[in-house]
Amino acid sequence: MSTPSRHFASDNNAGLVPEVWAALQEANVGHAPAYGDDPWTAQAVAEFRRVFEHDALEVCFVFNGTAANSLALAALTDSMHGVLCHEFSHVMTDECNAPGFFRHGLMLLPVGGAFGKIDPAALPRRVAGLRSVHAPEAKVLSLTQATELGTVYRPDEIAELAAVARSLELRVHMDGARFANAVAAAGCAPADLTWRAGVEVLSFGGTKGGMLAGEAVVFFEPALAANFRRRMKQSGQLASKMRFLSAPWAGFLRDDAWLRHARHANAMADRLAAGVYAVPGAALAHAPEANAVFARLPAGVAEKLWTQGWRFYDDVGPAGAVRLMCAWDTTAADVDAFVADLARAAE
Ligand SMILES: *Cc1c(COP(=O)(O)O)cnc(C)c1O
Repeated sequence: MSTPSRHFASDNNAGLVPEVWAALQEANVGHAPAYGDDPWTAQAVAEFRRVFEHDALEVCFVFNGTAANSLALAALTDSMHGVLCHEFSHVMTDECNAPGFFRHGLMLLPVGGAFGKIDPAALPRRVAGLRSVHAPEAKVLSLTQATELGTVYRPDEIAELAAVARSLELRVHMDGARFANAVAAAGCAPADLTWRAGVEVLSFGGTKGGMLAGEAVVFFEPALAANFRRRMKQSGQLASKMRFLSAPWAGFLRDDAWLRHARHANAMADRLAAGVYAVPGAALAHAPEANAVFARLPAGVAEKLWTQGWRFYDDVGPAGAVRLMCAWDTTAADVDAFVADLARAAE
């Protein structure tokens, strides 16, 4: 029996990638202006403009993903507005309605769709079902990339959803807590999954990819960023020692470290899926596309694995499935040890 030090509970259980640690160290010299007027923040902004092939984008660094999503949605809405999002989305189920806190009155409007992806045909129906003056006015479509079920929207799927959104006069926001895994999986340019496909604001997650803290709100239409820093300040999300939020981003994006680590996490998920698939009695709920594996295990098996020290959730995702999440530091040996324990537990 193994005694795992790493497990499959979440990618935010992992530590920091070395590039981020090094960037923090490099920024830890002398004095620097506060609130973002420092050379490290300028470098990080330049890296975002390079990565997204967009010289005019604006980017703001906040402490976590819930703030990134909520403040972005607040910036796009008014109090009588609604945000269309997937029924399983993090904004819908896991943010304690922070969007409604940062934009008082804002309502989340869940829509369905297979495998965690919003069904484009559901959008006009959902909007048409809102009773004129009696219901909130739908204003934003929020997509999660990669989705909460570990699937990935391809550029043409995003473009289709964005076109429907435009026809309904909705803005398009993307919750990219696992954007790196999505880009690694889709194998295309970050721009093709965002602004070129019609996404206007992206919450780009760093934490789950191996940063300490910090998510970037990326505005592909600079006008949408107006007063966003004031919104950050008011909500306690404007770091005074900003260089320690921004410098890690430069380290993360430089030389595509973010993509290298995400590709590795995705590859570990593929290895894990193949291992689970080969265990008699175990099955995949659906094929993994990013770094999450959803599996159905025989009765009692999850409990046995938990007793052995493995950690993973059975209360996110499809009913009756467990979620096995790979991180940047998951090793092939971790995966193989888990699969071996799973095979024994399922005998
Ligand atoms: C983890 C996560 C977030 C952000 O969570 P925080 O804990 O607030 O940083 C946002 N969206 C999705 C899809 C997530 O998985």
